[in-house]
Amino acid sequence: MTTESVEEFRHRARAWLAEAMPRLSGAMPDRLDDNRRQVERVLQRTLWEGGFAGIGFPAEYGGGGLAPEYQRAFSEESLPYDMPVSLNVPTLGILAATLVDFGTHEQKARHLPAILRGEELWVQFLSEPSGGSDLAGCLTRADRDGDLFIMNGSKIWSSAAFVSDYALCLARTNWDVPKHRGLTMFIVKIHQPGIQVEQIRQVDGSMEFCQEFFDDVPIPVADVLGEVDDGWTVATRLLVHERNAVGGGSPYTSGRSGGHESSGQDDSLAQMVRQQGRAGDTHLRQLVAEAHVRGLVGGALIQRVTSGVSRGQMLPSAGSLLKLFSATNVMRRYEIGLELAGEGAAAWPASSAGVAQRLSEATLWRQGLSLGGGSNEIQRNIISERLLGMPREFAADRDVPYRDVRRGGARG
Ligand SMILES: Cc1cc2nc3c(=O)[nH]c(=O)nc-3n(C[C@H](O)[C@H](O)[C@H](O)COP(=O)(O)OP(=O)(O)OC[C@H]3O[C@@H](n4cnc5c(N)ncnc54)[C@H](O)[C@@H]3O)c2cc1C
Repeated sequence: MTTESVEEFRHRARAWLAEAMPRLSGAMPDRLDDNRRQVERVLQRTLWEGGFAGIGFPAEYGGGGLAPEYQRAFSEESLPYDMPVSLNVPTLGILAATLVDFGTHEQKARHLPAILRGEELWVQFLSEPSGGSDLAGCLTRADRDGDLFIMNGSKIWSSAAFVSDYALCLARTNWDVPKHRGLTMFIVKIHQPGIQVEQIRQVDGSMEFCQEFFDDVPIPVADVLGEVDDGWTVATRLLVHERNAVGGGSPYTSGRSGGHESSGQDDSLAQMVRQQGRAGDTHLRQLVAEAHVRGLVGGALIQRVTSGVSRGQMLPSAGSLLKLFSATNVMRRYEIGLELAGEGAAAWPASSAGVAQRLSEATLWRQGLSLGGGSNEIQRNIISERLLGMPREFAADRDVPYRDVRRGGARG
């Protein structure tokens, strides 16, 4: 237990940040190329050396062991500084968080300090070529062989797997039980013989997404996270962490969060209109105001849901409210931004790419916001079934051994 108050902590953090972290000059870099990744690993190491890495993670494994208010105070103070924000999602906010919940002492001691030092980047191997929403319909298999499981199959849409070190991978270990009961979550070292990682080119030219192919990959039994055949419990918790992290409400992330653009703290749209000399235009003013108000509502929602969940007044699945709001809000913000940017978002001089260019590029992949972390439709299903108590969606395969479930016209 710390005796330092949140305000004392905030003052100490403010002084340390000014001393140790580089100030942001202009906007955060959007492109995550290899250089930027290296920079972020070093920034994470700097946080570690200053004692500010993993403020909410258990002290036993190298974290600060502090309550979410301390993490929030640090994040607020860190906004003017260059922070290793790409480590927030998925490494810290989703995968390390799940490791805290389900890892054995050995697993946590092996990985958490290394993650907090910026030495290990993690990724999630969940979605498959056959579909991502029906996560429990996973076809990648892991068959027991003594002290090993042998993994075969394929995962897809894994963000940045080619530069990451470890993954949490869901695989089917039992085909004789209904689909949710025969899954196991594994800690998988990505770059090893038997795993082929292929990058996928996206519409904006980036190559962030990957597909992995597993060919008789040996996974030690000691790398099972949680219990064998109970991977669904682990996956469900991982998804709760994911919705919180993507929605901006994770207690484990530092600096600007996924919800930052929808948190009312970003005035880049107003600045852009001022620079265009069009700040007197009533229509543009209304659009800027809409984006700002949406931001304020987003920030208030994050506060409300995170404090509701941490006090036990809301179910953890309330994170779906954050995820859905953040996805729809940020998409609307890009629409507004594109309208404000006008022709500046269609073409720009190579020497002066700015907010308009970033808005233009972001618009190309904005639909991804309604898919990554679970689609908007899936969030709506969760909200209606788990928060509002409406009847569950019909599922023909609910109590059927997975071996007997028809898939694409065939059985297992
Ligand atoms: C930016 C981004 C990052 C991602 N990162 C990762 C990652 O790191 N690791 C990973 O494993 N995956 C990742 N994904 C994949 C993501 O999880 C899937 O795209 C998502 O779960 C949807 O799966 P799908 O694309 O296969 O669509 P499908 O599941 O095939 O769905 C197609 C459409 O049908 C709708 N639909 C499906 N089922 C239902 C239902 N029951 N009720 C109503 N509508 C339904 C969906 O909403 C969607 O509109 C990422 C995706 C994006 C866009």
